[in-house]
Amino acid sequence: MKNKKLISRRSTLKGIGAIGALTFLNSKTVLGKDETRTNSDLISHSSDIRKKIFQKVFQTPFIDTHEHLIEEKERFIGASHPRVKSDDWTILFSHYLNSDMLTAGMPKEDYDEFFSPEVDPLDKWALLEPYWQAVKNTGYGQAVCITLRELYGVEELSAKTIKKVQLGYESVRRPDFYKHILRDLTNIESCQVNSLEGAPFMETEMPALLMQDISIVGMFAGPDFEQFGEPTGIKITSLSDWHKVIDWWFNKYGRYAVAVKSQNAYSRDINYEKVPGEKVEAIFKKRLDKQSLTAGEKKLLEDHLFWYAVDMAAEFNLPVKLHTGYYAGENRMPLSRLINNPASAADLCNIAPETNFVFMHICYPYYEELISIAKQYTNAHIDMCWAWIINPVASKDFLKKYLVTAPANKVLTFGGDYIPVEPVLGHAVIARRGIALTLSELVEEGWFSLENALKVIDPIMHGNARRIFNLHAKEKVLKRVKW
Ligand SMILES: [Zn+2]
Repeated sequence: MKNKKLISRRSTLKGIGAIGALTFLNSKTVLGKDETRTNSDLISHSSDIRKKIFQKVFQTPFIDTHEHLIEEKERFIGASHPRVKSDDWTILFSHYLNSDMLTAGMPKEDYDEFFSPEVDPLDKWALLEPYWQAVKNTGYGQAVCITLRELYGVEELSAKTIKKVQLGYESVRRPDFYKHILRDLTNIESCQVNSLEGAPFMETEMPALLMQDISIVGMFAGPDFEQFGEPTGIKITSLSDWHKVIDWWFNKYGRYAVAVKSQNAYSRDINYEKVPGEKVEAIFKKRLDKQSLTAGEKKLLEDHLFWYAVDMAAEFNLPVKLHTGYYAGENRMPLSRLINNPASAADLCNIAPETNFVFMHICYPYYEELISIAKQYTNAHIDMCWAWIINPVASKDFLKKYLVTAPANKVLTFGGDYIPVEPVLGHAVIARRGIALTLSELVEEGWFSLENALKVIDPIMHGNARRIFNLHAKEKVLKRVKW
Protein backbone atom coordinates (compact mmCIF):
# COMPACT_ATOMS: atom_id res chain seq x y z
CA MET A 1 0.00 0.00 0.00
CA LYS A 2 1.28 3.43 -0.84
CA ASN A 3 -0.32 4.97 2.21
CA LYS A 4 1.54 2.56 4.44
CA LYS A 5 4.72 4.22 3.34
CA LEU A 6 3.29 7.52 4.41
CA ILE A 7 2.87 6.56 8.03
CA SER A 8 4.45 3.40 9.21
CA ARG A 9 2.99 1.45 12.09
CA ARG A 10 6.21 2.03 13.98
CA SER A 11 6.15 5.77 13.66
CA THR A 12 2.58 6.02 14.89
CA LEU A 13 3.07 3.67 17.78
CA LYS A 14 6.11 5.77 18.63
CA GLY A 15 3.90 8.86 18.48
CA ILE A 16 1.30 7.26 20.67
CA GLY A 17 4.06 6.14 23.01
CA ALA A 18 5.19 9.74 23.29
CA ILE A 19 1.69 10.81 24.29
CA GLY A 20 1.67 8.14 26.94
CA ALA A 21 5.08 9.17 28.16
CA LEU A 22 4.02 12.80 28.33
CA THR A 23 1.14 11.99 30.65
CA PHE A 24 3.48 9.91 32.70
CA LEU A 25 6.13 12.62 32.96
CA ASN A 26 3.62 15.30 33.86
CA SER A 27 2.26 13.37 36.75
CA LYS A 28 5.72 12.41 37.90
CA THR A 29 6.55 16.11 38.11
CA VAL A 30 3.45 16.84 40.16
CA LEU A 31 4.23 14.02 42.54
CA GLY A 32 7.87 15.12 42.67
CA LYS A 33 7.01 18.54 44.10
CA ASP A 34 6.02 17.09 47.44
CA GLU A 35 7.97 13.94 47.45
CA THR A 36 11.47 14.81 46.29
CA ARG A 37 12.37 16.21 49.64
CA THR A 38 11.09 13.30 51.67
CA ASN A 39 11.08 10.14 49.63
CA SER A 40 12.82 9.91 46.32
CA ASP A 41 12.31 6.15 46.30
CA LEU A 42 8.58 6.64 46.07
CA ILE A 43 9.02 8.75 42.95
CA SER A 44 11.10 6.22 41.12
CA HIS A 45 8.76 3.49 42.31
CA SER A 46 5.76 5.45 41.12
CA SER A 47 7.33 6.27 37.78
CA ASP A 48 8.18 2.61 37.36
CA ILE A 49 4.51 1.76 37.97
CA ARG A 50 3.40 4.25 35.35
CA LYS A 51 5.98 3.12 32.85
CA LYS A 52 4.91 -0.52 33.12
CA ILE A 53 1.19 0.22 32.99
CA PHE A 54 1.40 2.73 30.15
CA GLN A 55 3.60 0.42 28.13
CA LYS A 56 1.26 -2.52 28.47
CA VAL A 57 -1.92 -0.52 27.80
CA PHE A 58 -0.43 1.14 24.72
CA GLN A 59 0.71 -2.22 23.34
CA THR A 60 -2.51 -4.12 24.02
CA PRO A 61 -5.06 -4.51 21.21
CA PHE A 62 -8.59 -3.29 21.64
CA ILE A 63 -11.75 -4.98 20.56
CA ASP A 64 -13.84 -1.99 19.57
CA THR A 65 -17.41 -2.74 20.65
CA HIS A 66 -19.24 0.14 18.99
CA GLU A 67 -18.91 2.09 15.74
CA HIS A 68 -21.23 3.52 13.07
CA LEU A 69 -18.65 3.26 10.28
CA ILE A 70 -20.09 3.32 6.81
CA GLU A 71 -18.70 0.77 4.40
CA GLU A 72 -15.25 1.77 3.12
CA LYS A 73 -16.34 1.82 -0.51
CA GLU A 74 -19.04 4.34 0.41
CA ARG A 75 -16.37 6.81 1.45
CA PHE A 76 -15.20 7.00 -2.15
CA ILE A 77 -18.51 8.20 -3.49
CA GLY A 78 -17.97 11.37 -1.49
CA ALA A 79 -20.59 13.85 -0.40
CA SER A 80 -23.39 12.20 -2.35
CA HIS A 81 -23.49 9.68 0.50
CA PRO A 82 -26.04 10.84 3.11
CA ARG A 83 -23.58 10.22 5.95
CA VAL A 84 -20.70 12.13 4.31
CA LYS A 85 -21.16 15.88 4.68
CA SER A 86 -18.15 16.72 2.53
CA ASP A 87 -15.26 14.65 1.29
CA ASP A 88 -12.40 16.76 2.67
CA TRP A 89 -10.59 17.33 6.00
CA THR A 90 -13.78 18.63 7.65
CA ILE A 91 -15.25 15.13 7.71
CA LEU A 92 -13.14 14.57 10.83
CA PHE A 93 -15.18 17.34 12.46
CA SER A 94 -18.55 16.16 11.19
CA HIS A 95 -19.10 13.63 13.96
CA TYR A 96 -19.03 14.72 16.87
CA LEU A 97 -17.02 17.93 17.10
CA ASN A 98 -19.60 19.67 14.92
CA SER A 99 -21.92 19.72 17.96
CA ASP A 100 -19.35 21.50 20.14
CA MET A 101 -18.84 24.02 17.32
CA LEU A 102 -22.55 24.84 17.32
CA THR A 103 -22.87 25.02 21.09
CA ALA A 104 -19.79 27.27 21.12
CA GLY A 105 -21.89 29.65 19.05
CA MET A 106 -20.92 29.07 15.43
CA PRO A 107 -23.76 30.49 13.29
CA LYS A 108 -25.69 27.96 11.24
CA GLU A 109 -24.71 29.66 7.94
CA ASP A 110 -21.00 29.36 8.75
CA TYR A 111 -21.55 25.79 9.87
CA ASP A 112 -23.27 24.89 6.60
CA GLU A 113 -20.47 26.49 4.62
CA PHE A 114 -17.84 24.70 6.68
CA PHE A 115 -19.29 21.33 5.76
CA SER A 116 -20.32 22.25 2.23
CA PRO A 117 -18.80 20.19 -0.60
CA GLU A 118 -19.05 23.36 -2.73
CA VAL A 119 -16.59 25.37 -0.64
CA ASP A 120 -12.84 25.05 -1.23
CA PRO A 121 -11.41 22.99 1.68
CA LEU A 122 -8.63 25.56 2.13
CA ASP A 123 -11.17 28.35 2.71
CA LYS A 124 -12.81 26.49 5.56
CA TRP A 125 -10.26 27.31 8.27
CA ALA A 126 -11.44 30.94 8.42
CA LEU A 127 -14.92 29.71 9.35
CA LEU A 128 -13.64 27.49 12.15
CA GLU A 129 -10.97 29.78 13.56
CA PRO A 130 -13.19 31.99 15.80
CA TYR A 131 -14.40 28.87 17.68
CA TRP A 132 -11.31 26.68 17.55
CA GLN A 133 -9.81 27.76 20.89
CA ALA A 134 -13.14 27.08 22.57
CA VAL A 135 -13.62 23.54 21.26
CA LYS A 136 -10.15 22.09 20.75
CA ASN A 137 -9.76 20.93 24.37
CA THR A 138 -13.03 19.03 24.73
CA GLY A 139 -12.88 15.27 24.33
CA TYR A 140 -14.38 15.63 20.85
CA GLY A 141 -11.73 18.25 20.02
CA GLN A 142 -8.84 16.29 21.47
CA ALA A 143 -9.78 13.17 19.50
CA VAL A 144 -9.56 15.25 16.31
CA CYS A 145 -6.30 16.98 17.32
CA ILE A 146 -4.62 13.67 18.06
CA THR A 147 -5.88 12.28 14.76
CA LEU A 148 -4.51 15.28 12.82
CA ARG A 149 -1.15 14.78 14.46
CA GLU A 150 -0.95 11.01 14.11
CA LEU A 151 -2.42 10.71 10.63
CA TYR A 152 -1.24 13.87 8.89
CA GLY A 153 1.71 15.00 11.03
CA VAL A 154 0.04 18.32 11.86
CA GLU A 155 0.72 19.55 15.40
CA GLU A 156 -1.46 22.65 15.37
CA LEU A 157 -4.37 23.53 13.16
CA SER A 158 -3.92 27.02 11.67
CA ALA A 159 -4.05 28.99 8.43
CA LYS A 160 -0.48 27.81 7.83
CA THR A 161 -1.15 24.10 8.28
CA ILE A 162 -4.55 23.71 6.68
CA LYS A 163 -3.09 22.77 3.31
CA LYS A 164 -1.01 20.03 4.91
CA VAL A 165 -4.15 18.72 6.62
CA GLN A 166 -6.06 18.56 3.35
CA LEU A 167 -3.16 16.87 1.52
CA GLY A 168 -2.85 14.41 4.40
CA TYR A 169 -6.56 13.69 4.21
CA GLU A 170 -6.36 12.92 0.50
CA SER A 171 -3.31 10.70 0.76
CA VAL A 172 -4.69 8.62 3.65
CA ARG A 173 -8.18 8.21 2.18
CA ARG A 174 -7.31 5.48 -0.30
CA PRO A 175 -8.40 1.87 -0.79
CA ASP A 176 -7.71 -0.22 2.30
CA PHE A 177 -7.47 2.79 4.60
CA TYR A 178 -9.94 1.26 7.06
CA LYS A 179 -7.60 -1.66 7.73
CA HIS A 180 -4.64 0.68 7.81
CA ILE A 181 -6.16 3.03 10.38
CA LEU A 182 -7.98 0.46 12.51
CA ARG A 183 -5.58 -2.45 12.53
CA ASP A 184 -2.12 -1.08 11.71
CA LEU A 185 -2.27 2.29 13.41
CA THR A 186 -4.82 1.87 16.19
CA ASN A 187 -4.22 -1.77 17.06
CA ILE A 188 -7.89 -2.74 16.97
CA GLU A 189 -8.59 -6.41 16.32
CA SER A 190 -12.19 -5.96 15.25
CA CYS A 191 -15.01 -3.43 15.45
CA GLN A 192 -18.72 -3.90 16.09
CA VAL A 193 -20.71 -1.73 13.75
CA ASN A 194 -24.25 -0.50 14.23
CA SER A 195 -24.82 0.56 10.65
CA LEU A 196 -26.83 3.72 10.09
CA GLU A 197 -26.98 3.26 6.34
CA GLY A 198 -30.58 2.03 6.31
CA ALA A 199 -30.61 -1.75 6.38
CA PRO A 200 -31.13 -3.27 9.86
CA PHE A 201 -28.07 -5.44 9.20
CA MET A 202 -25.17 -4.51 6.93
CA GLU A 203 -23.80 -7.26 4.72
CA THR A 204 -20.33 -5.83 5.04
CA GLU A 205 -17.47 -6.40 2.64
CA MET A 206 -15.11 -6.71 5.61
CA PRO A 207 -16.90 -9.15 7.94
CA ALA A 208 -13.81 -9.99 10.00
CA LEU A 209 -12.95 -6.36 10.72
CA LEU A 210 -16.39 -4.73 10.73
CA MET A 211 -18.58 -7.16 12.63
CA GLN A 212 -22.19 -6.07 12.73
CA ASP A 213 -25.07 -5.57 15.15
CA ILE A 214 -28.66 -6.16 14.14
CA SER A 215 -30.55 -2.93 14.67
CA ILE A 216 -33.77 -3.82 16.48
CA VAL A 217 -35.16 -0.35 17.06
CA GLY A 218 -37.48 -0.44 14.01
CA MET A 219 -38.81 -3.84 15.07
CA PHE A 220 -40.60 -2.21 17.98
CA ALA A 221 -40.51 1.58 17.54
CA GLY A 222 -42.94 2.59 14.86
CA PRO A 223 -42.68 -0.22 13.93
CA ASP A 224 -40.85 0.45 10.70
CA PHE A 225 -42.88 -1.37 8.04
CA GLU A 226 -40.70 -0.13 5.21
CA GLN A 227 -37.14 -0.86 6.41
CA PHE A 228 -37.95 -4.01 8.34
CA GLY A 229 -41.11 -5.34 6.72
CA GLU A 230 -40.53 -4.95 2.99
CA PRO A 231 -37.24 -6.87 2.62
CA THR A 232 -38.89 -9.95 4.15
CA GLY A 233 -41.68 -10.14 1.55
CA ILE A 234 -44.08 -11.08 4.35
CA LYS A 235 -47.61 -9.70 3.94
CA ILE A 236 -48.48 -7.95 7.18
CA THR A 237 -52.11 -8.04 8.24
CA SER A 238 -51.80 -8.87 11.95
CA LEU A 239 -49.48 -8.78 14.92
CA SER A 240 -48.46 -12.37 14.35
CA ASP A 241 -47.29 -11.44 10.84
CA TRP A 242 -45.07 -8.80 12.40
CA HIS A 243 -43.67 -11.41 14.79
CA LYS A 244 -42.78 -13.41 11.68
CA VAL A 245 -40.97 -10.35 10.29
CA ILE A 246 -38.87 -10.14 13.45
CA ASP A 247 -38.20 -13.88 13.29
CA TRP A 248 -37.09 -13.48 9.66
CA TRP A 249 -34.35 -11.01 10.55
CA PHE A 250 -33.01 -13.21 13.32
CA ASN A 251 -33.16 -16.35 11.23
CA LYS A 252 -31.35 -14.64 8.38
CA TYR A 253 -28.68 -12.76 10.31
CA GLY A 254 -28.67 -13.98 13.92
CA ARG A 255 -25.69 -16.26 13.44
CA TYR A 256 -23.60 -13.56 11.77
CA ALA A 257 -24.44 -10.72 14.15
CA VAL A 258 -22.46 -10.04 17.32
CA ALA A 259 -25.30 -8.30 19.17
CA VAL A 260 -28.53 -6.41 18.75
CA LYS A 261 -28.66 -2.66 19.24
CA SER A 262 -31.32 -0.08 20.05
CA GLN A 263 -30.98 3.69 20.37
CA ASN A 264 -34.64 4.05 21.28
CA ALA A 265 -33.59 5.98 24.42
CA TYR A 266 -33.41 9.01 22.12
CA SER A 267 -37.22 8.94 22.04
CA ARG A 268 -38.31 7.57 25.40
CA ASP A 269 -37.08 5.95 28.61
CA ILE A 270 -35.98 2.30 28.45
CA ASN A 271 -38.79 1.28 30.83
CA TYR A 272 -40.13 -1.60 28.72
CA GLU A 273 -42.73 -3.72 30.46
CA LYS A 274 -43.83 -7.21 29.49
CA VAL A 275 -47.14 -6.79 27.66
CA PRO A 276 -49.02 -9.85 26.30
CA GLY A 277 -49.81 -9.98 22.57
CA GLU A 278 -53.59 -10.01 23.14
CA LYS A 279 -53.35 -6.60 24.72
CA VAL A 280 -51.82 -4.98 21.65
CA GLU A 281 -53.41 -6.88 18.76
CA ALA A 282 -56.00 -4.14 18.18
CA ILE A 283 -53.42 -1.37 18.63
CA PHE A 284 -51.21 -2.98 16.00
CA LYS A 285 -54.17 -3.07 13.58
CA LYS A 286 -54.77 0.64 14.22
CA ARG A 287 -51.13 1.33 13.41
CA LEU A 288 -51.41 -0.78 10.28
CA ASP A 289 -54.45 1.29 9.22
CA LYS A 290 -52.35 4.42 9.73
CA GLN A 291 -54.57 5.65 12.58
CA SER A 292 -52.79 7.71 15.20
CA LEU A 293 -52.11 6.05 18.54
CA THR A 294 -52.39 7.60 21.99
CA ALA A 295 -49.17 7.83 23.99
CA GLY A 296 -50.41 4.97 26.16
CA GLU A 297 -51.19 2.72 23.17
CA LYS A 298 -47.86 3.51 21.59
CA LYS A 299 -46.02 2.51 24.75
CA LEU A 300 -47.94 -0.77 25.09
CA LEU A 301 -47.17 -1.74 21.50
CA GLU A 302 -43.50 -0.78 21.74
CA ASP A 303 -43.11 -2.59 25.05
CA HIS A 304 -44.63 -5.78 23.70
CA LEU A 305 -42.53 -5.76 20.53
CA PHE A 306 -39.36 -4.79 22.38
CA TRP A 307 -39.60 -7.93 24.44
CA TYR A 308 -40.50 -10.04 21.45
CA ALA A 309 -37.28 -8.88 19.74
CA VAL A 310 -35.20 -9.14 22.90
CA ASP A 311 -36.43 -12.66 23.59
CA MET A 312 -35.38 -13.60 20.05
CA ALA A 313 -31.97 -12.07 20.72
CA ALA A 314 -31.67 -14.21 23.84
CA GLU A 315 -32.61 -17.28 21.80
CA PHE A 316 -29.79 -16.51 19.39
CA ASN A 317 -27.45 -15.83 22.29
CA LEU A 318 -27.03 -12.20 21.25
CA PRO A 319 -26.37 -9.54 23.89
CA VAL A 320 -28.74 -6.58 23.85
CA LYS A 321 -26.97 -3.22 23.53
CA LEU A 322 -29.00 -0.25 24.67
CA HIS A 323 -28.16 3.42 24.37
CA THR A 324 -28.29 5.09 27.78
CA GLY A 325 -27.56 8.62 28.95
CA TYR A 326 -26.16 11.55 26.99
CA TYR A 327 -27.59 12.53 23.59
CA ALA A 328 -25.56 13.12 20.46
CA GLY A 329 -26.33 16.38 18.71
CA GLU A 330 -27.05 19.73 20.31
CA ASN A 331 -29.79 21.74 21.94
CA ARG A 332 -31.96 18.72 22.71
CA MET A 333 -31.53 16.57 25.80
CA PRO A 334 -34.36 15.88 28.27
CA LEU A 335 -32.24 15.15 31.34
CA SER A 336 -35.38 14.67 33.43
CA ARG A 337 -36.00 11.56 31.32
CA LEU A 338 -32.41 10.34 31.03
CA ILE A 339 -32.00 10.41 34.79
CA ASN A 340 -34.40 7.46 34.90
CA ASN A 341 -32.32 5.29 32.55
CA PRO A 342 -30.34 3.51 35.30
CA ALA A 343 -33.44 2.59 37.32
CA SER A 344 -35.12 1.29 34.16
CA ALA A 345 -31.96 -0.64 33.27
CA ALA A 346 -32.17 -2.39 36.63
CA ASP A 347 -35.79 -3.35 35.91
CA LEU A 348 -34.80 -4.85 32.54
CA CYS A 349 -32.12 -6.99 34.20
CA ASN A 350 -34.67 -8.11 36.73
CA ILE A 351 -37.36 -8.99 34.17
CA ALA A 352 -35.06 -11.06 31.92
CA PRO A 353 -32.27 -12.68 33.95
CA GLU A 354 -31.22 -14.86 30.99
CA THR A 355 -30.68 -11.89 28.68
CA ASN A 356 -27.30 -10.19 28.65
CA PHE A 357 -27.75 -6.43 28.56
CA VAL A 358 -25.01 -4.04 27.56
CA PHE A 359 -25.68 -0.51 28.76
CA MET A 360 -23.82 1.88 26.52
CA HIS A 361 -21.97 5.15 27.09
CA ILE A 362 -21.83 4.66 30.90
CA CYS A 363 -25.19 6.43 30.97
CA TYR A 364 -23.23 9.67 31.23
CA PRO A 365 -23.65 11.70 33.43
CA TYR A 366 -25.37 9.07 35.64
CA TYR A 367 -22.54 6.57 35.69
CA GLU A 368 -22.33 5.97 39.43
CA GLU A 369 -25.89 4.61 39.37
CA LEU A 370 -25.00 2.30 36.49
CA ILE A 371 -22.02 0.86 38.39
CA SER A 372 -24.42 -0.17 41.15
CA ILE A 373 -26.42 -2.14 38.56
CA ALA A 374 -23.37 -3.98 37.21
CA LYS A 375 -22.54 -4.86 40.80
CA GLN A 376 -26.05 -6.08 41.57
CA TYR A 377 -27.11 -7.94 38.40
CA THR A 378 -25.25 -10.83 36.78
CA ASN A 379 -26.67 -9.93 33.35
CA ALA A 380 -25.69 -6.22 33.46
CA HIS A 381 -22.64 -5.12 31.44
CA ILE A 382 -21.35 -1.60 30.89
CA ASP A 383 -19.79 -0.34 27.68
CA MET A 384 -17.62 2.78 27.80
CA CYS A 385 -18.07 3.38 24.08
CA TRP A 386 -18.22 7.09 23.21
CA ALA A 387 -17.71 8.04 26.87
CA TRP A 388 -13.98 8.86 26.66
CA ILE A 389 -14.67 11.73 24.28
CA ILE A 390 -17.84 12.97 25.97
CA ASN A 391 -15.86 13.48 29.15
CA PRO A 392 -12.39 11.91 29.42
CA VAL A 393 -11.94 12.79 33.09
CA ALA A 394 -15.35 11.42 34.13
CA SER A 395 -14.58 8.27 32.16
CA LYS A 396 -11.39 7.76 34.12
CA ASP A 397 -13.39 8.34 37.30
CA PHE A 398 -15.99 5.81 36.13
CA LEU A 399 -13.44 3.10 35.36
CA LYS A 400 -11.59 3.68 38.60
CA LYS A 401 -14.79 3.34 40.61
CA TYR A 402 -16.07 0.48 38.48
CA LEU A 403 -12.96 -1.66 39.02
CA VAL A 404 -13.16 -1.44 42.80
CA THR A 405 -16.93 -1.96 42.86
CA ALA A 406 -18.24 -4.36 40.21
CA PRO A 407 -16.78 -7.53 38.65
CA ALA A 408 -14.04 -6.66 36.13
CA ASN A 409 -15.35 -9.18 33.59
CA LYS A 410 -18.43 -7.09 32.73
CA VAL A 411 -16.90 -3.83 31.58
CA LEU A 412 -16.03 -2.99 27.97
CA THR A 413 -13.57 -0.13 27.65
CA PHE A 414 -13.63 1.06 24.06
CA GLY A 415 -15.91 1.94 21.19
CA GLY A 416 -15.15 4.92 18.98
CA ASP A 417 -18.82 5.42 18.04
CA TYR A 418 -17.85 7.23 14.83
CA ILE A 419 -19.24 7.40 11.30
CA PRO A 420 -15.90 8.54 9.77
CA VAL A 421 -13.05 6.13 10.51
CA GLU A 422 -10.23 8.63 11.00
CA PRO A 423 -11.00 9.95 14.51
CA VAL A 424 -11.31 6.42 15.90
CA LEU A 425 -7.52 6.68 16.10
CA GLY A 426 -7.63 9.80 18.29
CA HIS A 427 -10.40 8.39 20.45
CA ALA A 428 -8.42 5.19 21.06
CA VAL A 429 -5.39 7.19 22.21
CA ILE A 430 -7.59 9.06 24.72
CA ALA A 431 -9.07 5.75 25.91
CA ARG A 432 -5.66 4.11 26.31
CA ARG A 433 -4.37 7.14 28.21
CA GLY A 434 -7.47 7.04 30.44
CA ILE A 435 -7.16 3.31 31.13
CA ALA A 436 -3.45 3.65 31.93
CA LEU A 437 -4.07 6.62 34.26
CA THR A 438 -6.92 4.75 35.96
CA LEU A 439 -4.75 1.75 36.72
CA SER A 440 -1.72 3.84 37.71
CA GLU A 441 -3.78 5.81 40.19
CA LEU A 442 -5.37 2.65 41.61
CA VAL A 443 -1.90 1.23 42.23
CA GLU A 444 -0.44 4.46 43.61
CA GLU A 445 -3.37 4.90 45.96
CA GLY A 446 -2.96 1.35 47.21
CA TRP A 447 -6.24 -0.11 45.92
CA PHE A 448 -4.58 -2.43 43.40
CA SER A 449 -1.21 -4.17 43.36
CA LEU A 450 0.83 -3.54 40.23
CA GLU A 451 0.49 -7.21 39.39
CA ASN A 452 -3.31 -7.05 39.56
CA ALA A 453 -3.40 -3.84 37.54
CA LEU A 454 -1.33 -5.43 34.77
CA LYS A 455 -3.51 -8.56 34.84
CA VAL A 456 -6.76 -6.67 34.33
CA ILE A 457 -5.59 -4.94 31.11
CA ASP A 458 -6.15 -7.82 28.70
CA PRO A 459 -9.67 -8.62 29.92
CA ILE A 460 -10.97 -5.05 29.94
CA MET A 461 -9.42 -4.13 26.56
CA HIS A 462 -10.40 -7.25 24.62
CA GLY A 463 -10.95 -10.44 26.65
CA ASN A 464 -14.35 -9.43 28.05
CA ALA A 465 -15.60 -8.46 24.60
CA ARG A 466 -14.43 -11.74 23.15
CA ARG A 467 -16.37 -13.70 25.78
CA ILE A 468 -19.50 -11.54 26.03
CA PHE A 469 -20.01 -11.43 22.24
CA ASN A 470 -18.87 -14.99 21.63
CA LEU A 471 -16.31 -13.74 19.12
CA HIS A 472 -14.37 -16.94 18.69
CA ALA A 473 -17.40 -18.68 17.21
CA LYS A 474 -18.45 -15.57 15.25
CA GLU A 475 -15.02 -15.25 13.65
CA LYS A 476 -15.31 -18.79 12.34
CA VAL A 477 -18.75 -18.21 10.86
CA LEU A 478 -17.78 -14.84 9.37
CA LYS A 479 -14.71 -16.26 7.70
CA ARG A 480 -16.93 -18.34 5.44
CA VAL A 481 -19.81 -15.97 4.93
CA LYS A 482 -21.00 -15.16 1.42
CA TRP A 483 -23.81 -12.66 1.47
ZN1 LIG B 1 -23.54 4.98 18.69
